[in-house]
Amino acid sequence: MSNLKFCQGPECHTYTTQDRLKGIKGSKTYQTRRRSNLLWEEFCDRRCFEDWFSKYGTMAVDHFGRLNEVKHLTEENAWTKTYDWRASSDDSHRHYFLNTITKEQRPLTEDQYNDTNYTLNER
Ligand SMILES: [Zn+2]
Repeated sequence: MSNLKFCQGPECHTYTTQDRLKGIKGSKTYQTRRRSNLLWEEFCDRRCFEDWFSKYGTMAVDHFGRLNEVKHLTEENAWTKTYDWRASSDDSHRHYFLNTITKEQRPLTEDQYNDTNYTLNER
């Protein structure tokens, strides 16, 4: 029981599901859910996350840094990995980098495709 984590949803205990109803007859209460696995480590379900975000989201954004200007994905960092299904002459997939801005393609081996550290992007 001790490794169970509490859902951080501020209204979790107000949702009247059977699994939240605990205690002995005469003193039952609806309780915050406890789980070993939580959505994003903090919430029993999406509704509890959305309750939390509705209440605290703006404070969290202000605390961790509000974006106040447009960010740009430049050509230098617009490379993605993709493949065409069974497009090679031997029926294997044809892997390649695709620049999503210029549409330039550059060939990739399957190993390079699977290597998450291998990129053409500068940062
Ligand atoms: Zn919850």
